[in-house]
Amino acid sequence: MKYDHIMVRFGELSTKGKNKKEFIKVLAKNIRGALSEFKDIEIISRFDHIYVKLNENNPFRIIEILQDVSGIQGLSLVLKTDEDIENLKKVCLELVKQETGNTFKVHAKRANKNYPIISDQINREIAKVILQNTDLKVDVHNPDILVSIEVRDEGAYVFTHTYKGAGGYPLGVGGKIMHMLSGGIDSPIAAYLLMKRGLKIECIHFASPPYTNVGVIEKLKDLLGKLNKYQPEIRLNIIPFTKLQEEIYKQSDESYAITIMRRMMFRLADRLAKRRRFLAISTGESVGQVASQTLDSMNVINAVTNIPVLRPVVCYDKTEIIDLARKIDTFDISIRPFEDCCTIFAPKNPKTKPSMDEVLKFEAKWDYESMINEALDNVEVIYVKKEENLF
Ligand code: ATP
Ligand code: MG
Repeated sequence: MKYDHIMVRFGELSTKGKNKKEFIKVLAKNIRGALSEFKDIEIISRFDHIYVKLNENNPFRIIEILQDVSGIQGLSLVLKTDEDIENLKKVCLELVKQETGNTFKVHAKRANKNYPIISDQINREIAKVILQNTDLKVDVHNPDILVSIEVRDEGAYVFTHTYKGAGGYPLGVGGKIMHMLSGGIDSPIAAYLLMKRGLKIECIHFASPPYTNVGVIEKLKDLLGKLNKYQPEIRLNIIPFTKLQEEIYKQSDESYAITIMRRMMFRLADRLAKRRRFLAISTGESVGQVASQTLDSMNVINAVTNIPVLRPVVCYDKTEIIDLARKIDTFDISIRPFEDCCTIFAPKNPKTKPSMDEVLKFEAKWDYESMINEALDNVEVIYVKKEENLF
């Protein structure tokens, strides 16, 4: 007997009341996109679950792909059948016989309240048939085989295997965010966590040629290629940053250069986010990691923007970030030795407690606004997309 559907559970979505319909619509669309290589599957949206009708396709490849789609709590390989109790007995017995183990438990759920038999009774009747026809014993606490049954209006679903999903929210339901992508280890991980939480990202990168290698753009494309697994198309805005950077070093004390440079980056991200009507910006900052990421520095840097700045890895240890980077396969790309503008211009003694008065004094010495506008007028846009039919 063959499983014919995958049941997709939403988890956190169930608590979202009137937004639920929209969430299901977006999730169904994302599932369709993630499974674009399978031409003849069907996606069926219902109020509590989404079903993927397999039409003879390999379910394990599909489950593997769906495990990376955010907004999915769990996945079960199910057999859809009619809810007649005699039929259910037959189906459950057949499915149990296909499994290996010594003990079992039946767990029935009756979503269709018009169904004449209560869940407890279904459990007992099914268990009785299994006990009579196999050598299996009941173990309600830690069974080798868990036979689950969900009786719904449109029929009954029987399953014995459930797989964990990525959790979070469907990509796109949270809106869009302007993400600062540096090419290091942290910012791609921050991007991944934002997408998992339902936010669509657009990236901004500050490039300082000839100080930074042009190869960094290839590196960013490769990183975004990995992130395409979670968001099939990502827009990358490359901002020419050289002039601003050179001027910062001319106009300010070396120990303040990083603070002022980061204020310029945040100003640019803020302007571009607002121009694109995004409501927030995000970074891969982690508190305490470097001089510009102390609370004192963050205060002085953050003061140039009035929109929320999300820092998904703010409390992660470097080792935790690296574990995630290995998991999503960005680590080897991130450690490629391309110089970042931060590393090239890194002063010997950056301020960990910058003074706002000092910062304002340095910034008042020159017209950075016109340089910001010039940089924004010369943004280079690249779209990085998922390759179609990639097996
Ligand atoms: P990462 O490894 O992600 O680069 P990091 O540890 O190198 O982080 P910083 O260089 O201080 O930390 O940068 C902190 C954050 O600022 C980065 O995570 C990124 O969001 C942003 N950032 C830094 N440099 C750039 C850049 N050249 N372009 C875009 N964003 C940048
Ligand atoms: Mg960096």
